[in-house]
Amino acid sequence: SAAIEVRNLTKRYGRTTAVDGLSFEVRPGRVTGFLGPNGAGKSTTMRAIVGLDRPTSGEVLVAGSRYDQLDQPLRHVGALLDVSVHRGRTVRAHLTGLARSNRIPAARVTEVLEIVGLTAVADKRAKGLSLGMAQRLGVAAALLGDPQVLLLDEPVNGLDPEGILWIRALMKRLAAEGRTVFVSSHLMSEMALTADHLIVIGQGRLLADSSVTEFVSRN
Ligand code: ADP
Ligand code: ADP
Repeated sequence: SAAIEVRNLTKRYGRTTAVDGLSFEVRPGRVTGFLGPNGAGKSTTMRAIVGLDRPTSGEVLVAGSRYDQLDQPLRHVGALLDVSVHRGRTVRAHLTGLARSNRIPAARVTEVLEIVGLTAVADKRAKGLSLGMAQRLGVAAALLGDPQVLLLDEPVNGLDPEGILWIRALMKRLAAEGRTVFVSSHLMSEMALTADHLIVIGQGRLLADSSVTEFVSRN
């Protein structure tokens, strides 16, 4: 069954229709790529999935519920969205705060710092981090609740080569563990390397929902 269900989602910002009657499902145990040019509506859709944007119409279910109806949401869904939210506090304090407000044991912070390779900079201020390190902090926040569903919005953007290889391997490992990985990109080349399945959108509408091999052979 589907881990994410987007049903007839529409989101308008004033006169701009960012997402226009979009429907698709994302299944567990594989990496599903969310492909589309800049401005296609990928971030808006991801924000709607984690309840950061209220849809104009339509519905989004994740882990079987609306995000705002999940008990302890970070234990079900983790998201790497806009890294600019991770500011002022130290890396560790940021994660400890998130853990506390989601009733996640503090020991998990040490674990995720290790997983993402930020142990050495745990006591540095988040805003002083390089983009690559900030991305890792975003991934740490997403992994904090050990969720079954992971959303990653353009995770390789601005990363150094080592960081890119690291995040690709991490996504594959998470999917191999049976989790749901939903990752956006505007680059077909990136999706071809990491995704098993593709949801392709343009101007807020669904253009394709197929395996990567099928999509490549048809286009
Ligand atoms: P993508 O992630 O695929 O680049 P977005 O979801 O960010 O696309 O944007 C889709 C469209 O919605 C774009 O035209 C964008 O300018 C617009 N948009 C996104 N967020 C807002 C916002 N907060 N206010 C106004 N327009 C927005
Ligand atoms: P605040 O500090 O204002 O409470 P937070 O950043 O802690 O804001 O969280 C706001 C909402 O977004 C909460 O419902 C939280 O569970 C959710 N949230 C925060 N970070 C993530 C993440 N990485 N993945 C999924 N949901 C998140």
